[in-house]
Amino acid sequence: TKTRVAILFGGRSAEHDVSRASAANIFRSLDAGRYAVTLIGITPGGRWVLADAANDATSAALAVPADGPDIVLLPAGQGRALVIDTGGAAPRELAFDVIFPVLHGPNGEDGTVQGALELADVAYVGGRVLGSAVAMDKDAAKRLLRDAGLPIVPFVTMTAAVPVSYDDAARAVGASELFVKPANLGSSVGISKARNADEFDAACKLALRFDRKILIERCIAPVREIECAVLERPDGEVKASELGEIVPAGSHGFYSYEAKYTDANGASLHVPAQVEPALAARIRKMAIETFGVLCCESLARVDFFVRGDEVYVNEVNTLPGFTNISMYPKMWEATGLPQPALMDELITHALARHARLR
Ligand code: ADP
Ligand code: MG
Ligand code: MG
Repeated sequence: TKTRVAILFGGRSAEHDVSRASAANIFRSLDAGRYAVTLIGITPGGRWVLADAANDATSAALAVPADGPDIVLLPAGQGRALVIDTGGAAPRELAFDVIFPVLHGPNGEDGTVQGALELADVAYVGGRVLGSAVAMDKDAAKRLLRDAGLPIVPFVTMTAAVPVSYDDAARAVGASELFVKPANLGSSVGISKARNADEFDAACKLALRFDRKILIERCIAPVREIECAVLERPDGEVKASELGEIVPAGSHGFYSYEAKYTDANGASLHVPAQVEPALAARIRKMAIETFGVLCCESLARVDFFVRGDEVYVNEVNTLPGFTNISMYPKMWEATGLPQPALMDELITHALARHARLR
């Protein structure tokens, strides 16, 4: 019999559309001989809707039908869910063996959905509540990494209630060129560079629109942006992939939202990255250590800044992009694990973990 997989996609974050593209790619790469797939879309407003009728395997980005039947995952239901049609017909029951959350950013990658899936008592792919929440909060993540002796870019944290001046921030991080970013977000939303007090005030104001807590970091320049995919095998062994490199187009200044999504030539991706073997081995080892320190499970993409042979852990994405140009599946592909086999690993891990923890 086939394993019943529900793909959960869309969601309430700014990365709703990226999630739809990631989910289409995951849907396509699940072996139809092994898996019976149900699509559950989350609308921008947060409703869970059945999305099977709105999509097929050729969709470039899965659609979330705003008027689709509601899906309610039953608490302690071991994967049982109710489908409630708007027509007034009696609710139908569905059941899943495993849920694959393909959600990026707040309300999906940050432990919230993971908490709901824990309460539902269903197997699911990816990190659990703590690892997801800690990795999403760049301030909490960097403190844990620093405590563990992993190299991070010098930073200070600021809230609207306790502002920090440009001079104090610059002194604290030891540089006059600063990066200002919201603590809990992704896709470069709300991030900008500041070289003086005026730019700094504008950068803080922008970042504070997205979060109550923001980070001010030393700008690393020139910087190489190197990434490593980490995968936990069903037996618990943690593996690091070949490295990848992102080179944002010079016109963008850094890997901004536009460079990521709106400009087709915004960045070039190199997998595997040209990194000297000893340095690459150091980075891979740091990726696995980072995964452990932040309580990650199942999968994560660990992103680094590299300048010469200096290495900094920048951030960890616990549900990284899975679009057809995304780095996570590309890096595994380059390591000898094609995407359908990667899907098998992730789903087998989810089922094994659920059986172990029950
Ligand atoms: P996000 O979660 O939104 O991707 P990041 O911390 O990765 O946030 O920042 C987005 C991009 O901004 C990075 O990929 C990089 O191009 C640039 N950037 C961020 N912080 C720094 C820094 N301290 N020095 C240099 N570039 C930075
Ligand atoms: Mg991120
Ligand atoms: Mg990033």
